[in-house]
Amino acid sequence: MTTVPKAFWDELRGELGAEAIDFSSAAVADYGANMMPSGDRLPGGVVYPASTAEVQTVVRAANRHRVTLWPISTGRNVGIGEKSPVREGQVVVHLRRMNKIHEIDETLCFADLDPGVTFKQLYEELGRRGHKLMMSSTSGPTDGSIVGNAIDKGAGYTPYFDHFGMTCGLEVVLGDGRILRTADGASPGAKTWHLVKYGLGPFLDGLFVQSNFGIVTRAGMWLMPRPPVIRAFIFTFPDDDDFGAIIDLIRPLKLNNLVPTLLKVTNDVYSLGTVETYPYARTGGRTPLPDDLRRELQRKHGIGSWSVSGAFYGDSEESVRPMIERVRRHFESSGKARYVSHEQARENPIFRIHLDTFSGTPTEEEMPLHDWRPGGGSIWFLPTTPMIGSIANQHQRMSRRILSHYGFEFITEYVCTGRASRALHPLIFNRKDADESQRAAECFRALMAAYAEAGYPLSRAPTEFQEEAMARLQVIPQVCSDLKRVLDPNSVIAPGKYGIV
Ligand code: ADP
Repeated sequence: MTTVPKAFWDELRGELGAEAIDFSSAAVADYGANMMPSGDRLPGGVVYPASTAEVQTVVRAANRHRVTLWPISTGRNVGIGEKSPVREGQVVVHLRRMNKIHEIDETLCFADLDPGVTFKQLYEELGRRGHKLMMSSTSGPTDGSIVGNAIDKGAGYTPYFDHFGMTCGLEVVLGDGRILRTADGASPGAKTWHLVKYGLGPFLDGLFVQSNFGIVTRAGMWLMPRPPVIRAFIFTFPDDDDFGAIIDLIRPLKLNNLVPTLLKVTNDVYSLGTVETYPYARTGGRTPLPDDLRRELQRKHGIGSWSVSGAFYGDSEESVRPMIERVRRHFESSGKARYVSHEQARENPIFRIHLDTFSGTPTEEEMPLHDWRPGGGSIWFLPTTPMIGSIANQHQRMSRRILSHYGFEFITEYVCTGRASRALHPLIFNRKDADESQRAAECFRALMAAYAEAGYPLSRAPTEFQEEAMARLQVIPQVCSDLKRVLDPNSVIAPGKYGIV
């Protein structure tokens, strides 16, 4: 690890003020902490720029002094690396002071946001304006960044679930210090920056997703008019192997968008982890969770092996009721579904999470899942599963087998579109236990290998595994290196992120 030259800090202290830099050992320890198995990754220090011009100053100084940077918006990327850099010694550029909501347009339904704007902050601002607009939120931390999440391919659950897809017009400080405004933002005086995604010429926005070519300093984000009535539905299914039938039942509902939200298929332990911790006393310290105990916990909380959830939007209760009746007939035709109404779901914290996420309401109720096992270890494995029941069942069996071999339970939520679902497999482990941490890392690698071999790649990876995940791709890594040389010739921005050097 190379140390950050004093001249870099002196220059930034002069340009941005003493309060904008921190390389104290406390800051280094705080920003190096993460939840990944191989330990903390200490940065060289932290910078807090307050504007795009200040970001430009930081990038230029980094170029002059050959310092590498690790940009984060809020650093609440839980289970993916948090605030810690991909490589030790990188200086964290924390954009928390850039937290302005520049504009909310209630007619054309978009917001113009700084990267430090959090889900909670936008939700509260929309509330102050009478909730005429609905945002799409993750089920992760409410103090996470909307922009950071979008450019890391994060997602939500409403019809605007595709958070990067809903961005329109970015502002980026490139690695060489230039400011790029994408799409119509490149036309001086354009009034359409956040209205038209593709502009004139090539569409460059995608270059700044899961990459290290620039620091995103502003983004347009489309919002949806808030529907007057939002009614969720939930169906529980008793058996692990009902999963295949569930996937086949969901596919047509999403291919024609009969259900406007995504559909979630949440497994028992994922749900239980939000309200229970691992019952070590009951197992005598043994892991993974035995099936009889899993069944007992299912019964205690009124869930089966799976909970399927989605929601309808309408202008009145009456307009939504026939839609609910229709999905009831659809799922109940399986002979295995048990219906849980919106009102019943409100009484159960396990289900309330879904009501919130389908209404674009940020919620902290899923966060306790990270404490299912003690010790603060969490890494998220995010493969893609096609919406074909037989394949989906192969995937769940494969995951269960691998996880159980390494001593972990299958914890998963499949978030389904019509063609594919993103499987959220958090691997929750005791990071204070060296053996368990090592097993978590081995398990993650075994899952990556098994899914790659079966032909189902990942969509996102914790920083510790990004290089390995990217190394499985062909040509894209070389093209990214070529782009890196052009856009960030001294490689100052996050070298190693998603394997790009
Ligand atoms: P969250 O959205 O969960 O708060 P982060 O702020 O950590 O998460 O963003 C997720 C990841 O995206 C970070 O690890 C970082 O690599 C990258 N990132 C976040 N914000 C920016 C930004 N403004 N410019 C460039 N990369 C960013």
